[in-house]
Amino acid sequence: MKNNLSETISKVYELIGEHTPLICDCGIYCNGKCCTGDDKDGMLLFPGEKEYFENNDAYRVFFDERYNSFAVSCKGSCIRDQRPLSCRIFPYQFYYDKKSERINVAPDIRAVDYCPLLKNNIKINKKFLRSLRISALKLQSDPQCLEYIKHISSILTDFNII
Ligand code: SF4
Ligand code: SF4
Repeated sequence: MKNNLSETISKVYELIGEHTPLICDCGIYCNGKCCTGDDKDGMLLFPGEKEYFENNDAYRVFFDERYNSFAVSCKGSCIRDQRPLSCRIFPYQFYYDKKSERINVAPDIRAVDYCPLLKNNIKINKKFLRSLRISALKLQSDPQCLEYIKHISSILTDFNII
């Protein structure tokens, strides 16, 4: 799989590894709500991921005009070590902070209304959060990923304002 992904994204997959928001499967709280998207509501793809998922029959890659970005939909189940980065970091997101000029990690604003972990303020696995913060540094060092995160952050911020 790694041969088809950019070096940065492969490294971030590695950094996050098996870490998840809870030590147990958080899907038990909501019946895996974030895995119930449809063909128009997929997970955003980071630079380097599109090429990989286009060649994987378990996924459908499409252009999501809401985010001006490619996204991927699945069949509601997956091989865990092949899932896209957006799934690995959910319900968190990488945001570019203009003031500090850094990529930060924060709850995904699209998830705050429905993800029980965020809604109920459930304590998140520290190792997971740490792996996301280290991943943010790696992403920051890659011009393509940095640009992408700037782009997505500006769109998510716009949604927030609306
Ligand atoms: S919606 Fe939240 S609690 Fe439910 S599976 Fe997704 S991340 Fe876990
Ligand atoms: S790829 Fe896996 S983790 Fe991501 S939405 Fe589909 S089933 Fe859920």
